[in-house]
Amino acid sequence: MQLTEDFVLKALANVKIEPRNFAALYVFRNSNDIFKALVMTILTQNTNDRNALRAYENLIKVVGDVTPEKIVSIGEDALANAIKPAGMHRVRARKILELSKVTLERYRGDLTWVKDLPIDEARRALLELPGVGEKTADVILVNLGKPTFPVDTHITRISIRLGIVRSRNYHEIQRAWMSILTPDPSRYLEIHLKLIQFGRDICMARNPRCNICGFKDVCEFKKLTER
Ligand code: SF4
Repeated sequence: MQLTEDFVLKALANVKIEPRNFAALYVFRNSNDIFKALVMTILTQNTNDRNALRAYENLIKVVGDVTPEKIVSIGEDALANAIKPAGMHRVRARKILELSKVTLERYRGDLTWVKDLPIDEARRALLELPGVGEKTADVILVNLGKPTFPVDTHITRISIRLGIVRSRNYHEIQRAWMSILTPDPSRYLEIHLKLIQFGRDICMARNPRCNICGFKDVCEFKKLTER
């Protein structure tokens, strides 16, 4: 069966989104600031959003306001110490410091102008910043109201299990979801967030809860494991 938008919406109807469980979204909604959201996404890489948010809130206690100037002024050791709850704090501190320096040197500490660029130029500008990869750029872009669909590890796993893609290729998975959904940034953001929450609660990496899943009648993984 070909997945339709209606089917996806029904299958995910009971998935609730709590902004604090999506650290980058939470910081962006509260600040409307691209630099702060980028710092937050570096803190969320390979850790959970709760630890990343604790690290970010610690950082606010130290610097007052998370700006490139303040981060450069406290230096690597104090930065690493502040963001310890996220883990890998030395590596993250170096990335955040590098991002801060480049934002200051190239753009005088201000990334607001990225909002007004067409999506391809905005993506290029973001990808040129240190520590920013495809997923991070897409998270920022969709939060800016631009039409793109960020893909994380949960969405990759779910897409393969459902059988809508055959590979883990980021762009292939992105295209697959964008072709199913209405081309609207708010729809892309809604389903991106719901799929992540669904991957945390129902379609987990180990022991997915297929018996209560809204996709169970169309899921290839379910059919294979029932044989
Ligand atoms: S049926 Fe199972 S494997 Fe398939 S999407 Fe649902 S929880 Fe995941």
